[in-house]
Amino acid sequence: TAFAVTCSPVETEAGSGVLLCFEDVTHLEQVGQMRRDFVANVSHELRTPLTALLGFIETLRGPARNDPVATERFLGTMQVEASRMERLVKDLLSLSRVEAQERVRPTDRVDLIRLIHAVIHATRPIAEEADVTIVFETEVQEIHVPGDADQLHQILTNLIENAVKYGGPGKTVTVKLAAHSDHPALRGPSAVISVIDQGPGIEEVHIPRLTERFYRVDSHRSREMGGTGLGLAIVKHIVNRHRGRLKVESELGQGTRFDVILPSRAAPPQA
Ligand code: ADP
Repeated sequence: TAFAVTCSPVETEAGSGVLLCFEDVTHLEQVGQMRRDFVANVSHELRTPLTALLGFIETLRGPARNDPVATERFLGTMQVEASRMERLVKDLLSLSRVEAQERVRPTDRVDLIRLIHAVIHATRPIAEEADVTIVFETEVQEIHVPGDADQLHQILTNLIENAVKYGGPGKTVTVKLAAHSDHPALRGPSAVISVIDQGPGIEEVHIPRLTERFYRVDSHRSREMGGTGLGLAIVKHIVNRHRGRLKVESELGQGTRFDVILPSRAAPPQA
């Protein structure tokens, strides 16, 4: 626990004295620590590809100068490293934008069936390359939720891309959409979008930490797959902005299921 203490002189009829104020600033301390950790993480994540790039540039200007085969190979690796930095910067910008808007409730009316079809269409090339099939199952004819269309698109993209990445070749990713007239998690009418994979699953100890920035279950695998470690942090902030819930269920060797539960009734206008 951290306290901030202020001390001020007071004069009363009974005489003079000192007023000591103790303020619990534990929370502020924690926020400060989180900010410092975040900056340290970002610096580390950016420095790794940057160091690799500088090393390759040096080699290209020196020993590999007249070797076209090596030059081609190094340029390929440099492109991979530069793309990694580009993705990281893009995710950092998304995260800061989403955080800045978290208190403002979104007001578009988003057609979820259209949205899901659009995201599946957009992620199909990645799925084909990974040899993963994406299927969409629903009995809902039509459902709209109050939301931010671009952000809901991003939630679904991040979850489907993870399911494809971690699911593994030859597997299926199932996207489901259900409507509930009174979902217990939200105590009201809700839409539930589920993204289910047949991957290796996630050990229970990791589940509560998945949405932390830069938290990875297997850093090596995540980096190899081109992950930034920010995807689920972005998902969490967008779900919060929509006053929804994110639920994760996983069974080792069976697969993982992410449920996004969104209120489907428009909130009363904000004062
Ligand atoms: P990353 O960019 O590393 O994928 P995310 O924030 O999207 O970052 O996910 C955090 C971590 O959660 C990942 O590094 C991975 O270890 C784990 N993870 C996310 N989705 C899945 C999934 N569908 N199956 C197994 N592990 C997953």
